[in-house]
Formats: sequence, C-alpha cells, structure tokens
Amino acid sequence: MIALSRLSLCAALLFSLVTAAAAQSAPNLPSATIPADRLAKYSDDAVQWMRDYLRIDTSNPPGHELAAAQFFKKVLDSENIENQVFEFTPGRANIWARIKGGGTKRPLILLSHMDVVTSDPAKWKANPFSADVIDGAMYGRGAQDMKQEGLAQLVVMVMLKREQVRLDRDVILLATSDEEVDGIGTDWMIANKRDLLENAEFLITEGGDNLEQKGHVESVGVDVAEKSPFWLKLTAHGTPGHASVPLADSAPNRLVRALYRVINYQTELKVLPVVEEHFKALAATQTSDLAAKFADIRTALEDKAFYARMSADPQYAYLLRDTISLTRMQGSQQTNVIPSEAVANLDIRLLPGEDAHAFLVLMKNVVDDANVTIEPESKDFRKANASDVNTTLFQIFREVSAAYWPGTPVVPTITSGYTENQRYREIGINCYGFTPYAATKEEGATEHGNNERVRLEELRSAPRILFDVVATLGQR
Ligand SMILES: [Zn+2]
Repeated sequence: MIALSRLSLCAALLFSLVTAAAAQSAPNLPSATIPADRLAKYSDDAVQWMRDYLRIDTSNPPGHELAAAQFFKKVLDSENIENQVFEFTPGRANIWARIKGGGTKRPLILLSHMDVVTSDPAKWKANPFSADVIDGAMYGRGAQDMKQEGLAQLVVMVMLKREQVRLDRDVILLATSDEEVDGIGTDWMIANKRDLLENAEFLITEGGDNLEQKGHVESVGVDVAEKSPFWLKLTAHGTPGHASVPLADSAPNRLVRALYRVINYQTELKVLPVVEEHFKALAATQTSDLAAKFADIRTALEDKAFYARMSADPQYAYLLRDTISLTRMQGSQQTNVIPSEAVANLDIRLLPGEDAHAFLVLMKNVVDDANVTIEPESKDFRKANASDVNTTLFQIFREVSAAYWPGTPVVPTITSGYTENQRYREIGINCYGFTPYAATKEEGATEHGNNERVRLEELRSAPRILFDVVATLGQR
C-alpha cells in the first residue's frame, strides 16, 4: 500500500509534466479545458479502479464475469450513469451503460471484454490477481488484454458525465463475457438486446497497438479488418495392409503427395483498400528502398522481383493473401500397419470478402485426387470484413494521435487473428481496434503470457487520450 502511494505520487508528478506538454501541443482537444486538479483526480481514480478490477478473477474458463460487471455497476451507479447488468447464465453477465446525447448523430459504442485467459501463477513475479506494483507497473492477468482498455472506457464515461460534455450522439459502454472462448456474451447481446446497441455508427474495442521504443511511440496501429479462419480436414483413403509389403497408393502416400501440392501452391497476392492504406502509412517508417514501394504498393507489386520478395516475407504476405498452414497429420497407430485412412488439417485464413466455398473448390483442384476428401472442420464460416478508413472517427484518431504523439504515423492494420469486431461489423457498425495505451514490445508480449502488466504512467494518461477521441466525436 505504502509503496503504491509513493509510486502514485511520482507518477502524478510525471503525469502532470506529460499532460502539460500534451495540452500545450493540443490546445484544441476537449480535455485542455479541464483543470489540472480534476485531471489528476481522474488519473488517481484510474489507478485505484484498475487495482480493484484486476483483483477480480475472471479467468475463462469458467469466466465468472458477473463480479466484474458488479464492479462496473458500482462505479456507474455512484456517478448516476444509466446502466443495466444482464446475467444471461448463472455467474456470467454483460454490462451496458449509456450517456445520452442530443440524438442528431448515431451512437458510439465502447466495447471491452471482462474475461481473461488462464494463467500459471508459478511463472509470475506477482500473483496474477494481486495487482501488485513492481518497478512502476501493475501486474495482473488482463493488464494488456483487455482490462486496461475497459477501465479507460469506464473512466471516459465518468469524465463525460462529471464534465457535462455536450454530445450530439449517445455514448454506450458495453463490457461482455466470454470473448476469449466462444464469445457467448456478444452473441447473447446481439441476439437479445440489439435495441440497446441502437443504430450505432461506430465502435471502439481492442486490437489497436501503439508500439513504444526507447520512450517514443513509433506507430499508432488501428485495427480496421481481420481475416477469417476456414479450417480444412483432408482425409486420404487407400488399401490397408502389412507394412512389410509396401503399397504405392496407400492412404499415407496419397496424403503426402496431396500435401506436397498444397504446400507448394501459392495463393495470389491481392491488395485490398485497407491494406493499401496500411502500406501507405507504413511508408513513413521505412528508411530503406521500401518507403517508395510501400507508398504505392499496388504499382510496386507489378514488378515480379518485388512481388516475389513480398510473397516470401511472412510479416507482409499474410496481409496480401489467403494463407494456408499445414498443422496436423495423422496416419497409423502402429509403425507396421498401413492404415486405410490418413488425415491432415490445414489452418486457412481468408481475407475480408473471400468466399469460403470458392476456396474449397480451389483446394480440391490443387489436391487433384478423388481419393482425398476435403471438408471444413466447422459448419459455420463467418466471412471476414473490414471498416472504412475514410470516416469521421478514423480522422479523429489521426488528430488526437498527432497531438499526443506528434509525427507518429497512424497505421490501419488487418489483424491475422479474429476479433468480435467481425460480429458488430455485420450489423452495420464501423468497428475499430484502437487503444489509448502505449506499450513496449516486451510489455505487449505479456498478453496471454506471464507477468502481464501495465505501467502506472500509462494507466494515468490513457483515459485522457480516449476521452479526447470520444468527446471530439461527440461533437462532430
Ligand atoms: Zn482481448
């Protein structure tokens, strides 16, 4: 306790220096009109509430997010902010809250998930639910994914209310259960309480990534699209027998030949509009010959050598193509038995807009063997989607970023993974992964790993950045 309050004091001093600089460079942002003592109080609240939030164990499975929803509710009730808790199954709940605006614009939703992945305390410096502070950072499962973002969203709701910010649109806070496993919290909300999401125009959630190196934020990554998993199972069929008498067209042999064709098959590189914007923004960070090429990736890829270079670079290639990863193979249970079946699994990720059925037909053509059947592992395929970068909110991300991190490019990104944005985009909302927190590579890597933590300095400053985004959007 004592150690924390001392640290808080240091952080408060540091924060006032940081925010003074930010306010100077950004006199037009809404937070610049809030007196310093009130800003410091919001920062204190952020640290205090984050400690309370991290101490609630919402490891999923089993989740038990109701306790976290009650934590949100307590703060919201004490600020007289309209809210409702939905315990859709015992112990598991979503919380929804709203600050009403003038209604001339469609709402903004601030979305977070309250569940966290499991952890192995033996591998941590501090207990994952202690919220202990070590060397200026608060430790806890969820400190990067994504209790820190949910907390900043909660503080922003409180700021909007206490500061009586004029809003032309409603601001809705939604904290859900089960994102880390099946996403039943979001599914339940969309199926049963769609009216409470109103006809929202924008949604902000996790997925953004502001990389800090040597105290400088190098890039502000905003998630605007994702790829969609389309996993396939290949089963080769053949005559079984004793392995002492080899059979040329046995199931394992057929499978290996089919997989050889698959792994040598190159899907075509395609430039989606969001990916074009991604490379354009990234061009500013390149010092090599890549800068000019990234500035116009579409033209650059017409050059065969450059196409081959991009195709061979896993960091860039996944943005430009549907990907295929061979991950599992299974044949006989015994070395001396030729099995009648051999199986392999492919983890395929499709770009936004791609048709799963067409890709299945393509794979059948590549495999080109009637004795190798190919079927999707799951029946429900969710088409990947993307949100436009030419929107008011994306423009505001650029303006606010320019104020806090001058000269740092705002880079729209397409995540290799899958987020809940996919489901909210389907109902007509422009969804972005944006975070007001900066993290070093090392800190970011603690997400789903050991020693997950967030710096107190970030906890104190992030809510204000998000407030500036939300309050600006509220009046535009
Ligand atoms: Zn997450």
